[in-house]
Amino acid sequence: MLQLNIHHIPENGLDIDTTIPPETLELANDKRIKDVTPLVCEFKASMVDKDLVVRGTSTLVVNCSCDRCLEDIEEVISSDDVCIVIENTPEIVDLTNDIREDILLAFPQLFLCDADCKGLCFNCGQNLNKAECQCDSESESSSPWGTLDNINFDDEK
Ligand SMILES: [Zn+2]
Ligand SMILES: [Zn+2]
Repeated sequence: MLQLNIHHIPENGLDIDTTIPPETLELANDKRIKDVTPLVCEFKASMVDKDLVVRGTSTLVVNCSCDRCLEDIEEVISSDDVCIVIENTPEIVDLTNDIREDILLAFPQLFLCDADCKGLCFNCGQNLNKAECQCDSESESSSPWGTLDNINFDDEK
């Protein structure tokens, strides 16, 4: 939890260097994630009239598997422009939820070991980043109807 008492914020702002454990951020709900480090936060909090403004960066490292080839990868996820504004802030404010939502937005749609990851062959399961498989040569050049051509209708006689 990251709670602030706004009376503790000096006029020139308050530096907040802290880490938030992953359990608090409930990031494990994402089933792709195997392990995740605490979120490292470097924020500056200041009061603008009655509003609390928190700016800074947050970063964590995720251990997960590539969505295409299923290899284990380590992904650094960071939010470089955190900007949380709480209008008419109460005396004591809990920023955990806002920080959580911010870093979730930085999560990629797909975890990829490489943008060019070739993934697994749908047919034989071979990791195509490591080696070509034998299925390729036929299916690649054929039309979408190619598989129909290969069905031997004579078998039904
Ligand atoms: Zn991959
Ligand atoms: Zn194959």
